[in-house]
Amino acid sequence: MTLVDPLTVDLTGYAAVVVSPGVPLNRHPIAAHAAQFGIPIIGDIELFAQARAGLPAHRVVGITGTNGKSTTTALIHHIVATAGWPARMGGNIGLPILAQDALPEGGVYVLELSSYQIDLTRTLDCDVAVLLNITPDHLDRYRDFDAYAAAKARLFAMQSPGHAAIIGIADAPSAAIARQVALSGRGEQLTKIAPGVCMDQSRWPALQGPHNAQNALAAISACEALGVPQAAITRGLETFGGLPHRMERVSEVGGVQFVNDSKATNPDSAAPALQAYDRIHWIVGGQAKSDDLEACRPGFGHVARAYTIGDAAARFAELLAGEMPVERCDTLDRAVAAAAANARPGETVLLSPACASFDQFRDYEARGDAFRTLVEGLK
Ligand code: ADP
Repeated sequence: MTLVDPLTVDLTGYAAVVVSPGVPLNRHPIAAHAAQFGIPIIGDIELFAQARAGLPAHRVVGITGTNGKSTTTALIHHIVATAGWPARMGGNIGLPILAQDALPEGGVYVLELSSYQIDLTRTLDCDVAVLLNITPDHLDRYRDFDAYAAAKARLFAMQSPGHAAIIGIADAPSAAIARQVALSGRGEQLTKIAPGVCMDQSRWPALQGPHNAQNALAAISACEALGVPQAAITRGLETFGGLPHRMERVSEVGGVQFVNDSKATNPDSAAPALQAYDRIHWIVGGQAKSDDLEACRPGFGHVARAYTIGDAAARFAELLAGEMPVERCDTLDRAVAAAAANARPGETVLLSPACASFDQFRDYEARGDAFRTLVEGLK
């Protein structure tokens, strides 16, 4: 094997340049270098798409959106597996699809797709494509919000006309994409998920809160489009175990429950957790993606006290001061100690940072694991 700097390579005759979705194509010089040779830049999902013709007959479900992708991906995979059908989960959920074995005939590949992955994909024709929502995030990688939304729209543009589209229409950009899909003559293949639909979630322990009602509805629609029997859908929703770091109840100490929602890396994704518990000691902060916490406001009334951490500690303490009692803690260990000291039985200590973790941790998983370890230390 020869390793060379791709920026110095003559790309004449190459079929494509394959990059990781972590490469910021808006800033990285490989984009201009490849363009000079007229060579496309693709990712592993496109390699999978190109390999599909050689696989046993199968179907692909692709899931995108700003928030709820992993939950919905894992839920669809779980329901399909509950039906006894061969199923694989891959993509942004942390399981590279090319590292997995191919499925036998009749299999379903369930792919979580970030907008970066969609940008690197040209020919993925999903049998079922799901868009949950679009709210501001990752704007460092896009020219503006419209460009971010346009990246998500491409998932539907790549589909054949007869294939199913499932779109949450709670926000304007997603609703606009739903309109585009309908106007392109695919109205019959389109299922719209409206906000605020009331469903009985009492038998779905890992799917609580209004955001999970949306995720569940999207998963139900996707499974119905695949033809999964109703009984398997019902059983799958009831037996779904949830994912770590998403409103995950890690422990109860002295009647106080401790909830790890480290995956809430922007204000929109922290908002649901604030509405899911009554009296919250809220650990919030990290590397902020926006200058405000307005998306969390509907849950402010549930917060007994906030504990701010990370780069955003000072700014968030200032922002929240008029709204609720606030302690600036700076670090997670100080925040957990302070929250544990203040919380009374029946109350909840919630890590739902509304921020990225990179200022103090390797990633959101490391932050959630650190929280769990600190909570264990309270026992
Ligand atoms: P993603 O993979 O898109 O980041 P996850 O399923 O991992 O989404 O959930 C991440 C966070 O977003 C969780 O903390 C959860 O509270 C919140 N969340 C999940 N689903 C939704 C949704 N449909 N709308 C808004 N927030 C959501």
